[in-house]
Amino acid sequence: MTAWDVCVIGGGPAGSVCALRLARLGHRVVLVERRVFPRPHVGEALSPGVPPLLDFLGVREALDGSVPSPGALVRWEDAHIRMVEPDPRAVTVDRGRFDQALLAAARAAGVSVFQPVRAGRPRRGPAGWEIPVGHDVLRARFLVDASGRRRASGGTTTATGLRTLTLHATWRGDGPTRLGTGPRGWCWGTPLPGGAFRAMAFVDAELLHPCSTDLKRLYHELLDSTGLFPDRPSARVVAVCDATGYRDDSPVTDDSVKVGEASFTLDPLTSSGVDSALQSAMAAAVTAHTLLSDGDRAAALEFYRDSRDRAVARHTAWTGAHYHRCEPHRDHPFWRRRATPPPPTAVTLPLTPDHLRRPVRLSAEAAVVPTPCPVGDLVTMRRALTHPALPTPIAHVGDAELAPLLDCVQHSASLADLLRTWSARLPAGRAEATAEWLYGKGLLVTD
Ligand SMILES: Cc1cc2nc3c(=O)[nH]c(=O)nc-3n(C[C@H](O)[C@H](O)[C@H](O)COP(=O)(O)OP(=O)(O)OC[C@H]3O[C@@H](n4cnc5c(N)ncnc54)[C@H](O)[C@@H]3O)c2cc1C
Repeated sequence: MTAWDVCVIGGGPAGSVCALRLARLGHRVVLVERRVFPRPHVGEALSPGVPPLLDFLGVREALDGSVPSPGALVRWEDAHIRMVEPDPRAVTVDRGRFDQALLAAARAAGVSVFQPVRAGRPRRGPAGWEIPVGHDVLRARFLVDASGRRRASGGTTTATGLRTLTLHATWRGDGPTRLGTGPRGWCWGTPLPGGAFRAMAFVDAELLHPCSTDLKRLYHELLDSTGLFPDRPSARVVAVCDATGYRDDSPVTDDSVKVGEASFTLDPLTSSGVDSALQSAMAAAVTAHTLLSDGDRAAALEFYRDSRDRAVARHTAWTGAHYHRCEPHRDHPFWRRRATPPPPTAVTLPLTPDHLRRPVRLSAEAAVVPTPCPVGDLVTMRRALTHPALPTPIAHVGDAELAPLLDCVQHSASLADLLRTWSARLPAGRAEATAEWLYGKGLLVTD
C-alpha cells in the first residue's frame, strides 16, 4: 500500500486548504472525508478576511453562488434597533457547496481524496502513522487532524468559554441579517443562498434538560425575546448543536498537527470560524512543511502553538468585551458570566513637524527578540518587535526586515536623523509611514 507523506483527516475548509497547500509544496497527500459532499454544515456567514485568502490561494471559485451580506438589524447595546450597513467583503455561502469546491480545488492540486470513508483513531506504528479506514490502513509520515469538533485523533482540551448550545432552524425567507439579545441569550439570523433563512439562538447549556425541554417552544421564545423576528413561520425542525469554546492541549507535535476546529473553536459571536480555520490551515501547512523538510523543528512547533494561542486570546478578549456592551441584560446569568470589561483604548498620538528635532528611542516596553516566523514556505527564527500593544510580534515592514531598522534608532540623534537613515533603505514614503505607525502605537518615543 502507498506510504503517504501526509494524511489529512477531514475535508472541511481547514482540511482542504491545508492539504492543497502541502500538495503544492510537493508532498504526497491523502485526505479522508467521512461524508458525501455536498453535506449541510452550519457557519455560512464568511467574515471579510476569507475572500482575500481564497484569492491568494487561487480558489476564488469556492465563492460562486455566494450572496453579499445584506446589512443587519442589530439590537445589542440597548433596546434600540439599528440598521448596520453591510461590509462589502463579507458574504454568505451555502457551506455544502463551499466545502465541496474547496475539496475539489485540493483534488485538482494533486491531493488523493478517499470519500466517503471514516478514519478510525490514528496510531503511531514503527514507520510512522497508521490510520484505519474500513478494512484498510493508510500509512503516512505526518498526520493532519482536520476533523472539526469530532477530533479524530483524540487528546484533551481546555474550555475557553462557557458551555453553550445553539438551537437552529431554517425556513423560506429573506430580509436583512438580524442580531439581537434576550435575557437568556442572543439570536442571529441571515438569508442563505437559494432563498432559505436560518436563525440561531445561543444559550447556556443548562437551559436545556435532555428529556423535558420542548425545543420548538424554547426556540421561538428566544427569538421573540429579541423582537427582531416578527412574522416568521413556525419552524418544523429545530436542531441543537454544541457551540462551547475550547482549545486542544497538544495542537502540534513533531509528526502531527491539529487544524481548524480540531485545534480550537471560537464563540460564534465572532462569525469568523471559517476565517480562523483557513488561517490555521495556512499556518499548519508551513509548520508541517518545515518539519517534513528537516527545517528548524523548534521554530516550527513554537510558531504553530503561539499563533494558535494568540488567536484564541484575541477572540476571547473581543467576545468578552462584546458581551459586556449589552446593557439591558447585564444582570442575567448568561450575560454576567460571559462579559469582561474591555481594556482601556490606546490613544493614538499624531506625529507633528515639531517632533522631528527631538531625540528618539524605543519604548521601554518594546523588545526585539528571536521569534519564529513563516518566511517563504518555511518557519525560521527572525528578530521581531514585541510590545503589549501588538497582537503579534512584527518581523517585517512590507518586504523589509524591521529589526535592522530598529537597530538604527539608538544611533540616531533625532527623529529627522532616523528618517534620513530609513529613507535610504525603504521605498519612498515608507520611512515616514513606519515612524508614524510606531509612534502612534507608543513603540517609538520622542523625548
Ligand atoms: C452554531 C455555530 C455557528 C457558526 N457560525 C459561523 C459563521 O457564521 N461563520 C463562520 O465563519 N463560522 C461559523 N461557525 C464555525 C464554523 O462552522 C467552523 O469554524 C468551521 O466549519 C471549521 O472548519 P473545519 O474545517 O475545522 O471543520 P468542519 O467544517 O467541521 O470539517 C470537518 C470535516 O471532518 C470530517 N470528519 C470528521 N470526523 C472524521 C473522520 N473520523 N474521518 C473522516 N472525516 C471526518 C467531517 O465530516 C467534516 O467534513 C459556527 C459554528 C457553530 C457551532
